Amino acid sequence: MSSNGRQRGGAGGAGKGASGYPAPVRALIERFSELPGIGVRSAERLAFHVLKSDETGALALANAIIEVKKSVRHCRVCFNLSDSDMCSICADPGRDRTRVLVVEQPKDLIALEQTGMYRGLYHVLMGRLSALDGVEPEDLTIGSLLARVRDSKGVIEEVVLGLNPTVEGDGTGLYLAQVLGELGVSVSRLARGLPSGSSLEFANKAVLADAILGRQSMGGGS
Ligand SMILES: [Zn+2]
Repeated sequence: MSSNGRQRGGAGGAGKGASGYPAPVRALIERFSELPGIGVRSAERLAFHVLKSDETGALALANAIIEVKKSVRHCRVCFNLSDSDMCSICADPGRDRTRVLVVEQPKDLIALEQTGMYRGLYHVLMGRLSALDGVEPEDLTIGSLLARVRDSKGVIEEVVLGLNPTVEGDGTGLYLAQVLGELGVSVSRLARGLPSGSSLEFANKAVLADAILGRQSMGGGS
């Protein structure tokens, strides 16, 4: 048994264990092992699940993947997932257009939205700044956020930072507070009910609701 951790799957092939399979099975195992968090063993299990399932089930899975790639895109305003040009939140005339809550990923937006405590708009960064992974401001939707605030001509009064309480989330928040502050918009962040190193996505509704209500100013505005 090797001591250097888990076997690598992915592009290099699905490991020695998969080499005895017919090519289509090998290809399926390789595809599965490219998914996040799926090692070669899990990929094999998934491939066998597909082999065992009837044709209807297998086609439904394949079609769900095709449908998602064909019809789901990012909202042109906030980058939330959407099946049309503008997402249902941006298109909703009942939302408070003076506030924009910034999150890292669409799944964070969904977690916050499920609390029912926030009636403003969102902006999805599509990641966070990371020196280690070489993620710079240009790699995220920060430029679009700044343009949104600028082009709103004062309609957007407050930007609420809802980044995950991690070192990189905090760093991204500080950067955003600085560049947004230069535009004169008020910047706040969600209250720290969330344990450090955790993620919004897994926080319970009550904690998220408290975080929204108890947000703290990071300066800017008047
Ligand atoms: Zn949107």
